[in-house]
Amino acid sequence: MALAETSRQLNQLPGSSSALEAKVLLCHLLQKNDSYLYTWPERRLEESQWQQLRQLIRQRLAGEPIAYITGQREFWSLMLKVTPATLIPRPETEQLVERALQHLPGEKSCRIADLGTGTGAIAAALASERPHWQITASDHSREALAVARENFQTLELHNVTTCQGDWCEALPTESRFDIIISNPPYIADSDPHLKQGDLPSEPYYALASGHDGLDAIRQIVQQAPHHLKRPGHLLLEHGFDQGTAVRKLLSAAGFELVSTHRDLSGLNRISEGTLTKS
Ligand code: GLN
Repeated sequence: MALAETSRQLNQLPGSSSALEAKVLLCHLLQKNDSYLYTWPERRLEESQWQQLRQLIRQRLAGEPIAYITGQREFWSLMLKVTPATLIPRPETEQLVERALQHLPGEKSCRIADLGTGTGAIAAALASERPHWQITASDHSREALAVARENFQTLELHNVTTCQGDWCEALPTESRFDIIISNPPYIADSDPHLKQGDLPSEPYYALASGHDGLDAIRQIVQQAPHHLKRPGHLLLEHGFDQGTAVRKLLSAAGFELVSTHRDLSGLNRISEGTLTKS
């Protein structure tokens, strides 16, 4: 009953998947997984639990993202702590992780930098898949880095170190990387999407990047060659309509084998290039 009632109320929220969100909120309230809900469908909530549930529903109806209410989001089958200081990891970013894994398969020990790590999603996914890689995760925000560090610790990923600063400026000058990877902010600062869905609640600097959304990407592309090995790869997530612009930036900076890849919804979402010459 609580499930149906929650779902009915959340239905008022445009564009939300109310049945799924109702399940997530109820699991969060009861601190159980969803098989519990199906095993005990007739179990009644106590009055205090109803009160808490009503509060969660109010938060959600006020537009608070479900991931901030529950304080977590799954990425690459890893449960990550999420706070309003971090972007909420998106499933399309898993494709970026897959590209990195395809570039460097096998047992070779590699150095990877994840710029603007947020919750640490990309770094954590790579670290879990390749325990022999050394991963450096950077972020401009100290608050976000604290969340990322907590995630690496909870997930017992001991091959990630963190550093604070803007893009490549955060990286230790003495190290060169096999891959620099980033899901930077890439939305144009006048884009109406910034006012929709979860985005108004997320950190603005993690989403928007100048008049055409490419400020961060321009900086990263320009700085990365000084921090990459030869060969070295740069992999970037971007907006579905920025593929041509990002490929141009990569080629102009001397990257070869420049290409754009689609995400699971078929949108051009990732561009990458390889640097072979100094
Ligand atoms: N790298 C993080 C993620 O993919 C954060 C990205 C960001 O804040 N723009 O979720």
